[in-house]
Amino acid sequence: MDHVGRIYRPPSEARSLLLQVTEGCSHNRCTYCGMYRDKPFRAKPWSTIEADLKGAATKGKVSRRAFLCDGDALILSQRRLVQILEGIRAHLPWIRRMGIYGDTRSVNRKSVTELEQLRDLGLSIVYHGVESGDDEVLRFVDKGGTAAECITTAERLEEAGIIHSVIVLLGVGGVALSRQHSVNTGKLLTKMDPPFVAALTTTVIPGTPLGDLQARGDFELPGKFGLLEELYTMIEQADLCDCHFSSNHASNYLPVRADLPEDKPRLLATLRAVIDAGDEGLLRPEWMRGL
Ligand code: SF4
Repeated sequence: MDHVGRIYRPPSEARSLLLQVTEGCSHNRCTYCGMYRDKPFRAKPWSTIEADLKGAATKGKVSRRAFLCDGDALILSQRRLVQILEGIRAHLPWIRRMGIYGDTRSVNRKSVTELEQLRDLGLSIVYHGVESGDDEVLRFVDKGGTAAECITTAERLEEAGIIHSVIVLLGVGGVALSRQHSVNTGKLLTKMDPPFVAALTTTVIPGTPLGDLQARGDFELPGKFGLLEELYTMIEQADLCDCHFSSNHASNYLPVRADLPEDKPRLLATLRAVIDAGDEGLLRPEWMRGL
């Protein structure tokens, strides 16, 4: 496969065919993100993508799933996305499920009709980095969208029949915005009501704008138990109909999985017990954490 630079994918796509259709991220401004700073955004030529598909076809049924990389590949034009999805069907007809990263901008640029066309061609799931439900935090990290626009994103994906998997980011507002970040993220989750939510923990990366702020003393990440307090508040505030919630990403100090709403009392009780104990021995050690 023609993989340019480091390839990122959601944990649940670990066994998927990773088809890189763009390089980098068209936004590339989120202050905490260091994934594509050295990789200018570009759409890969169809000839390269088609060569990858032909190469994958010679290996046979290695995976029934495909994930389209890089950062926000859904930003591609409808014409190109249709060409890619049709190409996957033609060359790899055993692929049953296709996923992609899409942010608020890239989903909302598409009409429901266009999203339905992508679903009909096999696009099953969009992983959406919401990060925060608080507009002040979203501006602070230059996310390039608002909480209200995230609700539109959720509505469009639901109407189009595409699974919406939401990512929220603990600690991204720092100590200063911690409370409003967690309260408003929980409230936004209620309004979006997605079937999947994953919580990740902010890792401040040197060389990013957030790293520079931290180095100057202008940003302070909440402590380990402050981050868990954010997680507690988000879940407490979130009123979800049928959602699989997880914090099993390697960045987190406490991996949990829960089906909401039925597991909410148990999950909140677990989090409260760990926070109140204040025992770092109950948390994932630093050496086991990663981006
Ligand atoms: S949209 Fe995603 S990939 Fe792009 S800069 Fe922001 S966090 Fe990074």
